Amino acid sequence: MDRFARTKQNPYFATDASVGMAEARSEIAPALVAQNVRKRYGDTVALDGVSLSIPEGEVFGLVGPNGAGKTTLVRSLTGTTRCDGEIRVLGAAPSKVEADRVGLLPQSFHPADRLSARELIEYYAGLYDDPRSVDGVLDDVGLAADADTWYENLSGGQQRRACVGTALVNDPEVLFLDEPTTGIDPAGRRSLWSLVEDLAAGGTTVILTSHSMDEVERLADRVGLLRDGELVAVGSPETLIETHAGDSHLRIEGRAVDAEAVAAALDATVEERDGDVVVRNVALADVGRVVAEVEAAGVDVESFTWSEPNLEDVYLRLTGDALDETVAELGGER
Ligand code: ADP
Repeated sequence: MDRFARTKQNPYFATDASVGMAEARSEIAPALVAQNVRKRYGDTVALDGVSLSIPEGEVFGLVGPNGAGKTTLVRSLTGTTRCDGEIRVLGAAPSKVEADRVGLLPQSFHPADRLSARELIEYYAGLYDDPRSVDGVLDDVGLAADADTWYENLSGGQQRRACVGTALVNDPEVLFLDEPTTGIDPAGRRSLWSLVEDLAAGGTTVILTSHSMDEVERLADRVGLLRDGELVAVGSPETLIETHAGDSHLRIEGRAVDAEAVAAALDATVEERDGDVVVRNVALADVGRVVAEVEAAGVDVESFTWSEPNLEDVYLRLTGDALDETVAELGGER
């Protein structure tokens, strides 16, 4: 596949012989930099000073509630809308960067129903001077066997993959995928996930907008959380979970769970939440022991539920009611 064979000749790589290799690498310019990006639509502030730096080869997940500014940010980064502030994609302003170095799958994209997958990819390949082979792209998006099927007769997942294919014909170095898996079935999602993983393994920088936290947790090296036009948190899924999602915990449910009895049985501090008793910081390996100790103490329990914090917890905390408290904590993290 041609993208895997691409030689990364980075024009920003430091060539000064006196600079050591490790230092030289740190000199590599990011694939994408945004500084204090602002955008208003009349009285609506869509982007309120977004700053961001995405290194080459990173998969960056962009999440946030509807209206947070994700589409406006993607449009600003791809030069399809004007904004204030400074943006550099591959070292150039978005509207100046060579078209064949960037790929974009917009959120709404509806090709003609009666084009086959091959005709669709061929059409887009025709827009570039030096496109990838159409068969290569069809193969990458898993549509080689259905290449001659009309778009309208492809499954939802296949349709979306065909659309992703249109963004791959130019073998982009930076690829924007705006909600690539919305509305497609689990099998379709998984095959798109492997495609993104392959692209990332080949060195493509991917900016992925999504409402699916499991998708972002699986694919993204780092996640940026937008709310009301502001980037309120940026970090790897692990860091965000560790910092914001709280501990793994065991919830003990029942009509009359005695919190004091649980605390005494475990010789630990417990919390009462919504009528249940919660024991924080219980590792999965300790669940059996904790359950046995609670039962041995004769506590009247209906059920035990163990939860591990995930990116969804981060999302809910940072975009939900706890926002004010959390934004205050975030200070130095942007
Ligand atoms: P998201 O993609 O996160 O849902 P958007 O970027 O679409 O958010 O929207 C951010 C804010 O800007 C919202 O308040 C939205 O209503 C507003 N907005 C977006 N596009 C336009 C537009 N073309 N005209 C007026 N307001 C817009």
